[in-house]
Amino acid sequence: MKGAELAARIRADVAREVAELGDVCLATVLVGDDPASHIYIDKKHEAAHGAGIVTRDMRLPASTSEEDVLGLVDELNEDEGVDGILVQLPLPSQIDEVRVTNAVLPVKDVDGLHTVNAGRLYLGTPLHVPATAWGCMELLADHGVEVGGAEAVVIGRSELIGRPVAMLLLSANATVTMCHSRTRDLGEQARRADILIAAVGRPWLVTPDMVKPGAAVLDVGINRTEDGLRGDVDPAVGDVAGFMTPVPGGVGPMTIALLLRSTLKAARYRRGLLAFQGA
Ligand code: NAP
Repeated sequence: MKGAELAARIRADVAREVAELGDVCLATVLVGDDPASHIYIDKKHEAAHGAGIVTRDMRLPASTSEEDVLGLVDELNEDEGVDGILVQLPLPSQIDEVRVTNAVLPVKDVDGLHTVNAGRLYLGTPLHVPATAWGCMELLADHGVEVGGAEAVVIGRSELIGRPVAMLLLSANATVTMCHSRTRDLGEQARRADILIAAVGRPWLVTPDMVKPGAAVLDVGINRTEDGLRGDVDPAVGDVAGFMTPVPGGVGPMTIALLLRSTLKAARYRRGLLAFQGA
């Protein structure tokens, strides 16, 4: 599954729509000096600029207090020129992530992590949705993978990926199983899957014997190891699966592309072109 190709198409679509709409702005907040977070934020800004989205890049030192981060989020909430706000996680330990995430106005919450957005996804009437989960669904649709009635197994239950992707699969009428670190026989669960999504953070956890022949396998994992970048899925699974995303170049580029689409969506909500109902 060529995530990079589909992501490029989405980015081109977003660029065209941003040009029509005019003045779309994404603000990011990064606290601390985690190198991976800085790389992710740089990539997001580069992609946003490529799509004609204006950005504000707020980087604060690791020692910043929770109060100061909340103050900045408030300013961005009130700023009429800002459509979307993304707070890069993780935050330093002195800052309560849930508090900060819930301080972002739901309509500007392009990461879809505010309780209102998470709740709407749970209810099957989503507004903003986490980009990686959305990207997984777009990949399945683009490759013609039938989701309705399919057995879908999601490994990982994080708020960022596992839970939202499971909710989206359920809304699309898959029969969904969620696995996690306490799942008794992961292989037995995974082998039932027509659609297998691994979002764990364990290099090559999913091996060929855990995969049903012909299954669609989406590898969300990004693991930096001494031997280089590794997904959660052993590449040898490609010999068994019908479809499989590579790492890198699979789900990763989709996350950035869907973040741009979320920013465009936020701009439409804020201009009354889409209804942000019930929030
Ligand atoms: P996370 O918050 O650490 O969640 C990991 C999940 O995996 C947890 O639910 C955990 O179970 C489960 N787990 C851990 N070990 C397991 C095992 N041996 N068997 C079964 N389940 C296990 O991680 P995350 O934020 O969801 O990220 C997951 C991966 O995606 C990471 O590699 C991350 O770098 C990557 N990622 C990729 C993108 C992208 O764009 N491609 C974006 C964000 C993150 P418990 O709940 O029981 O602890």
